[in-house]
Amino acid sequence: MSAETMNKVELKALISATADTIAAHADELTTLDQAIGDGDHGLNMKRGFEAVRADADSFAAKPLPDALKAIGTKLVMTVGGASGPLFGTLFMALGKEISTEPDRADLATAFGKAIEAVAARGKSQVGQKTMLDVLQPVHEALLQDRTGPEITDAADRAAEATVPMKALRGRASFLGDRSIGHMDAGARSTALLVRAVAETIEGYA
Ligand code: ADP
Ligand code: MG
Repeated sequence: MSAETMNKVELKALISATADTIAAHADELTTLDQAIGDGDHGLNMKRGFEAVRADADSFAAKPLPDALKAIGTKLVMTVGGASGPLFGTLFMALGKEISTEPDRADLATAFGKAIEAVAARGKSQVGQKTMLDVLQPVHEALLQDRTGPEITDAADRAAEATVPMKALRGRASFLGDRSIGHMDAGARSTALLVRAVAETIEGYA
């Protein structure tokens, strides 16, 4: 992602890009969650990101930190499941930590703190087959000043890397060893969001 400031137009573009990718992949997310969860992740995410899209104008009218906090609150209220409070925390914490006109380094720092907030909320850590297994490598790529396509690749590879993992958090953990061999739904949705954000900010879609 470039160091350019996220302006109001970009925030609206980001909201529609993230809602679009979640809508386009809702069935896939549902299928992934059916294998080792309860099959609601696609619908949960679609409901939440469509609710954000419906209020895009009001979010875009706010300074970036307030917009992100409001988006996080909306996601907590609308996504539901285990992932709603976690994605909500990610955006709320990002809003709390980010500056009004962040550069790339600011974004990396704020993103790191937001991931810590998610881990605290979920009592989870990297390696447990969750969204954190994508968030963490994306943070590392940001810190290393990787390009948008590199960050997107890192996110996709990280989601793939959840396949052989055994789930230790969330519903999938109830399956024990039977959770092995399937991609974590939240890792996949996180990688989709990362791609949408990176492509929108860098305009390389
Ligand atoms: P639910 O599990 O309540 O049905 P979802 O299906 O919407 O909720 O979301 C499941 C996803 O949430 C998982 O794939 C995983 O990535 C993520 N998740 C669940 N519990 C945790 C946790 N404690 N920490 C981090 N991520 C989690
Ligand atoms: Mg589920």
